[in-house]
Amino acid sequence: MSVSEGAQPYEGLADRLQAVQQGIAEACRAAGRDAAETTLIVVTKFHPAALVRELAALGVADVGENRHQEAQEKAADLADLDLNWHYIGQLQTKKARQAAQYASAIHSIDRARLIDALAPIERSLDVFLQINLTDDPGRGGAAPSEIEALTERILETPTLRLRGVMAVAPLEEPASAAFARLAGYSERVRALAPDATDISAGMTHDYAEAIAAGATHLRIGSAITGNRPDAR
Ligand SMILES: *Cc1c(COP(=O)(O)O)cnc(C)c1O
Repeated sequence: MSVSEGAQPYEGLADRLQAVQQGIAEACRAAGRDAAETTLIVVTKFHPAALVRELAALGVADVGENRHQEAQEKAADLADLDLNWHYIGQLQTKKARQAAQYASAIHSIDRARLIDALAPIERSLDVFLQINLTDDPGRGGAAPSEIEALTERILETPTLRLRGVMAVAPLEEPASAAFARLAGYSERVRALAPDATDISAGMTHDYAEAIAAGATHLRIGSAITGNRPDAR
């Protein structure tokens, strides 16, 4: 990054954060929900640790990352801050235990092997079952037909605490239709795991629809951070 020094490297960050917080409050009001039941996770992928530090100074407690190595480095850089790191990207089985060292929650549990890889960790870890809302198996997430088996597998794993479901809305259909399906999947999970009431859904362009469909954990990046630096 060329603008890492200087007095105001992240100009507008506070304003954009506040605008999103207001947008969340409005969407909650419109849905007849209490904004206090939602958690804003600011997605900071591709942005430097200095930006995350500035977000923390603005009161942000929850940040989201989708690449293990980048997340691990930032969490180490910012270990002096009291941040909750949410891992929201696809996770290789062989990196799972490392991710569990810095992550307070992993939102992208999508297969039995990943659950089994996390079983021997030495603490309790919050997890979300990620469900694929498309028919394309190449997208992240478990197929809806696997919901019951994976839910049971997580419940059988004492180190994992199942919080609920997670999904990304596909581009090919209205977000509200996709999130309505997700709400149904959440009910199927709760039939087996009554405490797993959370729904991790909603990004920059669809968080209002996600809130209307019951989302509790909003993963919002570019609306707050500005455009991401190019992926490398
Ligand atoms: C990048 C990302 C987000 C945030 O996306 P924005 O459109 O920038 O808000 C949310 N969830 C996941 C899984 C992501 O990878």
